[in-house]
Amino acid sequence: MTSAGGAGGTVVRCPHCGTNNRVRPNATGTPRCAKCHQPLPWVVSADQATFQAETTSSVPVIVDFWAPWCGPCRMISPVLEKLAERYAGRLKVVKVNVDENQQLAQRYQAMSIPLLVLIEDGKEVDRQVGAVPQARLVDWIEPRLRPATGADAAGHNHS
Ligand SMILES: [Zn+2]
Repeated sequence: MTSAGGAGGTVVRCPHCGTNNRVRPNATGTPRCAKCHQPLPWVVSADQATFQAETTSSVPVIVDFWAPWCGPCRMISPVLEKLAERYAGRLKVVKVNVDENQQLAQRYQAMSIPLLVLIEDGKEVDRQVGAVPQARLVDWIEPRLRPATGADAAGHNHS
């Protein structure tokens, strides 16, 4: 269970060793487990106050606009969590409850949910509406992601 903590960050449980890590918005890096140092699946909840910080990221961000009453949202939520785990360190998932954040819902014209908005460098680059099957989400997101290994070293390791 992840809990939204506003400015205090979000608690993310490490799938490798079970340690709970408090993860804050991070514009330049990606979170790693404090204990085993594996990249953490980065799934957080955002509201109007934290949205800007949570969607400012060095990795692509999928914003999941959802509501508790929306059945298809409940189908897509575990798929997104699986992708966040599979692409740990390369992808961030930000969940926005449209009932509690109607300004954000309006700004992104979330008329029909689930709505997934892909954000890179703080800007929307693509979107998907509806309970998209996992295979289609993989096809959608994978070309946007940086390579799994050596991404940190490439271009930053010449000093
Ligand atoms: Zn760990």
